[in-house]
Amino acid sequence: MFRKIPATDAKYIKLKEKYQYTYNDFQKFAQHLTDQAGRSLKSSGKASSYARYLIKLLVLIEEEDGDIINELVSNESVIRLQDLGRHKNFEVYNKDEARFPSATIRCFVEYVNYKYNEKTEQLIDIEFNNKLNEVKENRSYYGSSELIQGPRPRKEKEMSRYGASYPRNPTESIEAKRRNNWTCEVDVSHVTFQSASDNNPYVEAHHLIPMAAQDFYENTIDFADNIVALCPNCHRKIHHAIEEEKRDMLMILFNKHKAMYPSYEIEIDFDTLCAYYS
Ligand SMILES: [Zn+2]
Ligand SMILES: [Zn+2]
Repeated sequence: MFRKIPATDAKYIKLKEKYQYTYNDFQKFAQHLTDQAGRSLKSSGKASSYARYLIKLLVLIEEEDGDIINELVSNESVIRLQDLGRHKNFEVYNKDEARFPSATIRCFVEYVNYKYNEKTEQLIDIEFNNKLNEVKENRSYYGSSELIQGPRPRKEKEMSRYGASYPRNPTESIEAKRRNNWTCEVDVSHVTFQSASDNNPYVEAHHLIPMAAQDFYENTIDFADNIVALCPNCHRKIHHAIEEEKRDMLMILFNKHKAMYPSYEIEIDFDTLCAYYS
C-alpha cells in the first residue's frame, strides 16, 4: 500500500485542493515549529515538505481504507494518521522517504492540539473577562506585590469545564488594564462606556501571545506585559477578523510590547506571533 506519490498524482492534486486551507495553515504552523527548533532549519524547506507529506499520507489512508477524512482538523484524522504510522510496512516507507512521514505525523498531532487549545482558550478568555468585571475591589490589585517581575516557570494545567488549560492570574490582567489607563491599546480614541465594577472605562484583557501557545514556552506567558487592554470591538476583532486585519492590529500591539519579552525569557518574533493567530 505504501508507494511514492508525486505531486502530479491525480489523487494528490484532488486532496490538496480539498484541504487547501488546512494545507496552508499547517505549513505556517510547521514553519513556526521548525523556526523554534533552531534557526539553522529556517530555510531548509521542512515546513513545505511536511505539508506535502500530510497530503501524501492522506492519499495512502484513502487508498487503504477506501474513504477520505472529511474534517481534517479532528481527532479522527489524528487517530487515522497514527494508525498508519503503526502499519507493519510503515517503517520501510518512512526510511525511504527520509523520515518525513513520521515527522509529519508528529507535527500534525501538535497542530491539531494547538487548534483545540485555541478554541478552548477563546471560550475561557470570554468567561475570564466576565469574571474580571465582577471583581468589585479591582483597586486592591493595582501594583500588587504578587505581580511577576521576571521569568517564572509556567503553571500546571487545570481542569475547567472547557477542558484542561493553563490558569490565568486576575491580578496580572487587572494590572495590564491599569497600565494602559483603561484605554484600547489599538487606538486610544476607541470609546467604550463606564464599567459598573470599578467606574473605569470598560476594556477587556487579552493575552498577546495567546494562552493557547503556552505549551510552546517553559516560562509563563501570563504576566501583565503580555496582556493588552482592548475595547470589546477590538477584542472580538483580534480573535475573529480576517488575517490582514488581524495583522495590522498585531503589528501595533507587538511594537508596543516586544521590548518587554526578553526580561521574561520569552522568545517571540512578529511572524511567529501572526502564526498563533492564523
Ligand atoms: Zn482574547
Ligand atoms: Zn479598540
